[in-house]
Amino acid sequence: MKDRFNGILLTRNEAKETIVERKELSLDDLMDGDVIVEVEWTTVNYKDGLAITGKSPVVRRWPMVPGIDCAGTVVESSNPRFSAGDKVILNGFGVGETHTGTYAQYARLNGDWLVKQPDGIDGRAAMAIGTAGYTAMLSVMALERHGLTPDRGPIVVTGANGGVGTVAIALLGKLGYEVIASTGRPEEADFLKELGASEIIHRDELSGPAKLLNKERWAGGVDAVGSHTLANVLSMTSYGGAVAACGLAQGMDLPSSVAPFILRGVSLLGIDSVMAPLALRQEAWARLARDLDPEKLEAITTEIGFQDVIEAAKDIVDGKIRGRVVVKMGQE
Ligand code: NDP
Repeated sequence: MKDRFNGILLTRNEAKETIVERKELSLDDLMDGDVIVEVEWTTVNYKDGLAITGKSPVVRRWPMVPGIDCAGTVVESSNPRFSAGDKVILNGFGVGETHTGTYAQYARLNGDWLVKQPDGIDGRAAMAIGTAGYTAMLSVMALERHGLTPDRGPIVVTGANGGVGTVAIALLGKLGYEVIASTGRPEEADFLKELGASEIIHRDELSGPAKLLNKERWAGGVDAVGSHTLANVLSMTSYGGAVAACGLAQGMDLPSSVAPFILRGVSLLGIDSVMAPLALRQEAWARLARDLDPEKLEAITTEIGFQDVIEAAKDIVDGKIRGRVVVKMGQE
């Protein structure tokens, strides 16, 4: 293990603005944990964008090494579940928010947060999927647990060109669902159809104030957008359907009513990837190995080097990233 290594450090100035610097770090800069992982691959999620730009108060400890996801190799462990050489994945648990994160060559983590890389998913694929893709899987699993099946009708996916959206479309398409993709980038219609969508709608159709109830258009949804969009999705969900809510790209609010719940028996399923229990994580990763077509994953993935992370973090907040970004560490 190197004494000094590359990383990114976030600090705050007196005006509470976020200052982002590429810096040489040492293990003293990392918080406690019983496993040290050499980060081989990481990624840029929407939350990483919020942390690096300071646009939302994602970071709750300063200074902070950002980065909420990694795949890599254990180099030191006093945790009985892991030993040096194990290939692992980390998502969430407040890493990059309250615990120093993965935008550095090494991350010191709690072994209870780690999942072993499943057969069929190497480090690059794991980070091409990342928190966004694993959240898409959790959302699909929640719809399945609710009892939705392809014969019940279409599923709408909002934020279709984003990380959660693209993986959700690929998964649902492979599982035999008819997928309606809602996007502000209709010029990407062919790309979304290749992934598995059968119909593309403009997100403007869903972004204004919702009626209490509207024409029934789908049996369910995966919503990465929140706010009016989620309210419209709910108001257009057919009797007994369900919507998995995982995101807030339009806003944190939910200007809806109880009408879809009490008049159509619609269910709103909350999805949290950060504190999801280990058994659910392991199930989600095993399902991703089985149900996510590697060619589709490659089609949504852009690979960058660590030197480009800060720019990509700004781009994701500006809605300029299509699909998923995977970051190869050590590629300077
Ligand atoms: P991305 O930025 O990759 O995707 C978000 C997509 O939402 C964009 O590509 C865009 O899609 C759409 N969008 C952006 N701004 C707006 C807007 N103002 N109104 C309507 N649509 C908009 O982010 P991710 O896919 O990584 O994450 C999506 C959301 O899910 C984020 O809010 C993120 O914080 C949340 N999330 C939650 C998790 C959880 O545990 N619950 C875990 C992971 C993510 P298009 O161009 O197609 O319209």
